[in-house]
Amino acid sequence: MKRYELMAPCHFGLESVLKKEIIDLGYDVSKVEDGRVTFVGDAEAVCRANVNLRTAERVLIKVGSFHAETFEELFQGTKSLPWEDFVPKDGKFWVAKAASVKSKLFSPSDIQSIMKKAMVERMKSHYHTEWFEESGEKFPVRVFLMKDAVTVGLDTTGDSLHKRGYRKLTSKAPIAENLAAALIMLTPWRKDRILVDPFCGSGTFPIEAAMMAANIAPGMNREFLSMEWPHLIPKQLWYDTFEEAREAVNMDVETDIQGYDMDPEMVRIARENARLAGVEALIHFQVRPVQQLSHPKKYGFIITNPPYGERLEEKKDLPALYAAVGERYKNLDAWSLYLITAYDKVEQDIGRKADKNRKIYNGMMKTYFYQFAGPKPPKKNGPKGA
Ligand code: SAH
Repeated sequence: MKRYELMAPCHFGLESVLKKEIIDLGYDVSKVEDGRVTFVGDAEAVCRANVNLRTAERVLIKVGSFHAETFEELFQGTKSLPWEDFVPKDGKFWVAKAASVKSKLFSPSDIQSIMKKAMVERMKSHYHTEWFEESGEKFPVRVFLMKDAVTVGLDTTGDSLHKRGYRKLTSKAPIAENLAAALIMLTPWRKDRILVDPFCGSGTFPIEAAMMAANIAPGMNREFLSMEWPHLIPKQLWYDTFEEAREAVNMDVETDIQGYDMDPEMVRIARENARLAGVEALIHFQVRPVQQLSHPKKYGFIITNPPYGERLEEKKDLPALYAAVGERYKNLDAWSLYLITAYDKVEQDIGRKADKNRKIYNGMMKTYFYQFAGPKPPKKNGPKGA
């Protein structure tokens, strides 16, 4: 099978997590840049990456790259790429997104229209036609300009990969599913450890954790744009990929995953989302304010996304709320606490300095992932006599 360079964009700050996921899936990573990991794979890799990657935003096939400081160079560079290898004569093609950083060319709409013209010119001479109906399948193109280096990719995914299909209903400020998954993966939490989200909202953290525990691939129950590209990806590869994902599921896994929220409507929504994700049996949801958080066992994890005062009237309540988190956390025995928030007085209110603190961009919003590590549990199967 033909080998491609595949590019997977992700949240800024989480490239290392995505890189590890790609390596675990069995592919060689060739480049890690801000917000993007590039790896090598064939058509089957396109299917497996789309279905299995929990932390990527989408999967692009790299069409090519070139240097451009002027629109003429952008036009010529785009025209020199082998579009006919990807887009059939009746395909609908356009530049869906242009992103430019530290480059001479920066106007997305100009970049988009010039590239489209160049693609048309290229395809005209290849397909010997003056006019394209564009009545067939979709081929959206994404382009990144970084210091005048133009990288062009074909989007194989369609709707962003964070849309797993289970979150029909959301809270006011839901965390993206791929971001939640990446944050869980940044912690030492594994399926045999306790996980509690005391501000669970629509249930994203508990649901993502339960899907990991049961080995449910995030893209098992959704579709991808390139499923309609049989000339590039034979249908059988998709069937095999979904089959592989179905066989990997293990619903007999033993877990202790809980989600609480003070708002009964949120708890109802979280339960419904968990049902849609197929993990309702693995999560215990309950209406409970954080002020009443407790757990009898040791060595658990709190992984959560507390309110951070998006609206002014909520801001005044934050010190007391975070102090309550700190207070309840102190009463848990040997637990670890992980929270992502845009609120900047977390350590002050909780009364402890975080062991680690990682900057993460949630869309355009700068947030921090505060990590308070607890002790590790003693090894269960240590050497005899130990
Ligand atoms: N990660 C969630 C969003 C969390 S938003 C998601 O993906 O949907 C914060 C949540 O905290 C809201 O649902 C709100 O109802 C809840 N909340 C606010 N104050 C609380 C308190 N004192 N105790 C428990 N939950 C609270």
